[in-house]
Amino acid sequence: MTSLPESPRPAPTRAAGAFEVRLSDSPLPEPDRRALIASPRFGTVFTDHMARCTWTAGGGWSDRRIEKYGPLNLNPAAAVLHYGQEIFEGLKAYRHADGSVWTFRPEANAARFARSAHRLALPQLSAEDFLGSIEALVRVDAAWVPSGEETSLYLRPFMYASEDFLGVRATQQAEYLVIASPVGPYFAGGVKPVSIWVAQDYHRSGAGGTGAAKCGGNYAASLLPQQEAQSKGCDQVCFLDASTNSLLEELGGMNVFIVGADGSVATPELSGTILEGVTRSSILRLLADSGHDVQERPIALAELRAGLADGSVTEVFACGTAAVITPIGRLAGADFDLAVADGAAGRVTTGLREALTDIQYGRAADPHGWMHRLL
Ligand SMILES: *Cc1c(COP(=O)(O)O)cnc(C)c1O
Repeated sequence: MTSLPESPRPAPTRAAGAFEVRLSDSPLPEPDRRALIASPRFGTVFTDHMARCTWTAGGGWSDRRIEKYGPLNLNPAAAVLHYGQEIFEGLKAYRHADGSVWTFRPEANAARFARSAHRLALPQLSAEDFLGSIEALVRVDAAWVPSGEETSLYLRPFMYASEDFLGVRATQQAEYLVIASPVGPYFAGGVKPVSIWVAQDYHRSGAGGTGAAKCGGNYAASLLPQQEAQSKGCDQVCFLDASTNSLLEELGGMNVFIVGADGSVATPELSGTILEGVTRSSILRLLADSGHDVQERPIALAELRAGLADGSVTEVFACGTAAVITPIGRLAGADFDLAVADGAAGRVTTGLREALTDIQYGRAADPHGWMHRLL
């Protein structure tokens, strides 16, 4: 990345200022940090600090702070360990060529976090605190935001039930934290297509369940089918709807799109059992902007199989914050195994990936005001 003259850093917002900074007494020495940032493995390395605040039913949110990254002091009776009352988010901080640091549509993550909290009967955290916690943490750990191509600082806000109580009811005490991890390009050595196993015996969510919430429990339910996919020689699992076992939903942590030979694009509609990805909605917007025929609608596995077999479906891809857009090269299940025609580098898939990352890394205009400057 070519570097431009550093642009002046904006003053902290009031929301970030609400987080008291308690600096770590043992930050990683700079050479070690540089070495870690140079080749990070996803989710294995964390910055010197974390953002945190505490909620009680009687007192609301308090003790907003940035403190040294480290283990939590958890009572063995903490409700989260028994009943899984937990939610999370995932977003990234991107360094632009002029040194400035930005996030992508963080208000959308804040709003989704509030919806997830509601569904899991956890307390509401205001968008102001969500955005303030992220800004405050990235300010303190700014040196951890990498600058290499397609690198970023992955931000993981989460909230859990911390009350020490084995009774089954909504917690009266919760912790909210943000941790941050430098990440390299998801596809080191170029974008590679993945293979998908369609689970026909397991579902990740059902009507009225928690499928639309970003909660750890959904991921726990996806791990055994994910193992099954791997045992069948596939990289990832795709789920079908629980009520008819015939409609495409999504992968364990990514939404899915199909592209027709005629250029039309479709993704499963939000039925209440699918997670509404920020990447998904941004892709829908970019496609609409460029005049594509794009639909959110039920997609039957039978339709996709027929389309792959007769060539009317030419590209399939998955999307989410971590990998942005991942081409799918092969789709298999108990009684089928189909290659995707333009599986490796389809025109629509590649174009969308470029358009989105160009906005995120400041290489293209941002007509929708999606980028939010932190530093
Ligand atoms: C987080 C997540 C996604 C992707 O959402 P983005 O906001 O695009 O990162 C898709 N599906 C599930 C189940 C998820 O948890």
